[in-house]
Amino acid sequence: MSRSFKDKVVIVTGSSSGVGAHAAIYFAYNYASVVLTGRNVERLNEVFRKCKESGVPRERLLVIQADVTRRSELARIVDETVKKFGKIDILINNAGEGKFGGLMQSTADDFDKCMETNVKSVLNLTKLATPHLIKTKGNVVNVSSLLGSISVPAALVYSMAKASINQFTKCVAMELAPHGVRVNAICPSYVEDTRFIEGSLLNIPDIETFNQSKERQHPLHRNVRMEDCTKAIAFLASEDAAFITGTLLPIDGGRKCTDVSYAGPMLSSNR
Ligand code: NDP
Repeated sequence: MSRSFKDKVVIVTGSSSGVGAHAAIYFAYNYASVVLTGRNVERLNEVFRKCKESGVPRERLLVIQADVTRRSELARIVDETVKKFGKIDILINNAGEGKFGGLMQSTADDFDKCMETNVKSVLNLTKLATPHLIKTKGNVVNVSSLLGSISVPAALVYSMAKASINQFTKCVAMELAPHGVRVNAICPSYVEDTRFIEGSLLNIPDIETFNQSKERQHPLHRNVRMEDCTKAIAFLASEDAAFITGTLLPIDGGRKCTDVSYAGPMLSSNR
């Protein structure tokens, strides 16, 4: 895919690792001015370095250390972006954190923290960016999850958070459509090679075995790769998706079509 984002200003939250870092590098490589933001400065600098190594001039990059759960820091992301680049065209609400456990393991504090990081931050940042997005007739892509629409009991509060993001996406898409601003979401199932599992504090002794068990849940028989997410994000953020808004795009190798316990082809071929 060679899609140019020349003259576009893109904010990617959570671009210090995983899906966000991959997408940010893609946008920068495709000529956008990109705001890299997250809490971990070392990892942000590493992404900055990778962008520069692929030929992106430093003038098109802005690194902002910020915690998305703090409203004042979200305001700083918007202010510093507009100060440096003069506008905002695309907002990628990607920063997020997993939280696993069923009803009896989940506390009210878990719920609050999960909603602060995954939902309230998206509401606050989108609100702050909206006047700028209206000026540019820009767009928003939220990184939701397949867990926002399928029910996995062991991911209770996280699933509740991502279900909220799905409704947020659709409601705000309708609200902003008269202004020419589009709002969409991608809904990946399990993405390999990010820091997500580490961050969720899931106790997984053997990641290889875990990855293989996840592969079997996807009819296309592999897990999601970061580039699958990036391509979908870039498509939704681009002019190619000019007539698409309020969509929740599964990136799941067909998993949503199946029962969640899907473990391989179910039809026997001996007749
Ligand atoms: P990573 O843990 O690799 O990335 C998460 C990113 O979010 C990091 O850059 C982290 O930055 C940032 N972040 C988390 N909390 C905060 C905070 N309070 N303030 C600012 N930044 C924050 O995981 P992924 O790349 O996998 O996750 C990206 C998105 O994809 C998330 O929304 C996640 O829910 C979603 N997703 C992931 C799936 C997976 O299987 N990996 C599946 C479906 C959806 P830092 O630590 O520097 O603050």
